Amino acid sequence: MLSNYHTHSCYCDGKGEPSQFVDYAIAQGFTALGFSGHSPVPFPNTFSIKDYDGYCNEIRSLKEKYAGSIDIKLGLEFDYVPGMLEDFTPFIEKGGLEYTIGSVHLIPNPNDVEALRQLCDSEDVEERKQIPYHLWFIDGPRYETYDNGLRHIFGGDIRAGVRAYFHQENEMIVRNHPTIVGHPDKILMHNRERYFSSSDKWYRDLFYETLDVIHETGCICELNTRGLYKGRHTDFYPSREHLKRMNELGIPIIVSTDAHQPTELDIFEGAYEILKEIGYKNIITAL
Ligand SMILES: [Zn+2]
Ligand SMILES: [Zn+2]
Repeated sequence: MLSNYHTHSCYCDGKGEPSQFVDYAIAQGFTALGFSGHSPVPFPNTFSIKDYDGYCNEIRSLKEKYAGSIDIKLGLEFDYVPGMLEDFTPFIEKGGLEYTIGSVHLIPNPNDVEALRQLCDSEDVEERKQIPYHLWFIDGPRYETYDNGLRHIFGGDIRAGVRAYFHQENEMIVRNHPTIVGHPDKILMHNRERYFSSSDKWYRDLFYETLDVIHETGCICELNTRGLYKGRHTDFYPSREHLKRMNELGIPIIVSTDAHQPTELDIFEGAYEILKEIGYKNIITAL
């Protein structure tokens, strides 16, 4: 049962028409393919969906066209940001989404959320251009972005930044119950053991608190292979060392490649074999 539900096409920051992803998936023997473009955000950027209706309509028409040969699903990867995007419901209803991935890539300082909210509500395009300066962007190809954002938004206080990240995760999960929690420890990506070690007790406590929230809400947790195959991280999200605990908690897991082009759809990096080795019980392959 090959599938992938974390897929970005040319409607956001991916390369390739949705139909090219479908063709590749069918050729690889996939039984299901879910599209999860980056949710629209209220400031100029190069990564999010600009034509939301066009995206939803195209995925829906592919779903119809390929019914019987592959199960195509319409989803969205939400960027949960307090003061900016807190409630997934309007997008779910407007687009008729079949599932959601809840992710955190952009982190405001908790003390700055109301100022951010005012900017996001502003009708003034020039004012809205200020929004990115209120957010710590932890993703993207450059570690300098991570370092600069940490300094600018959190005064260089890594514990405050990491705490804000996990609290944002928890809040997102409790408020929105996403179908899938995306790359739950992506905060590690540009850290590379420079600011802290992932075995530090304070870090582990924060991450385990998030695992407990995932467990309590019954969401599926993603095992994301993209950091590995892009050479930006040394492990899956979440790291292998946590899989045993996740299994003990009974957290359902789904393997995703977070593909940004068709040939990335099936780069699973041995994830299924590793899950099998540790006897992971609840592996989801179809939504
Ligand atoms: Zn993401
Ligand atoms: Zn993604």
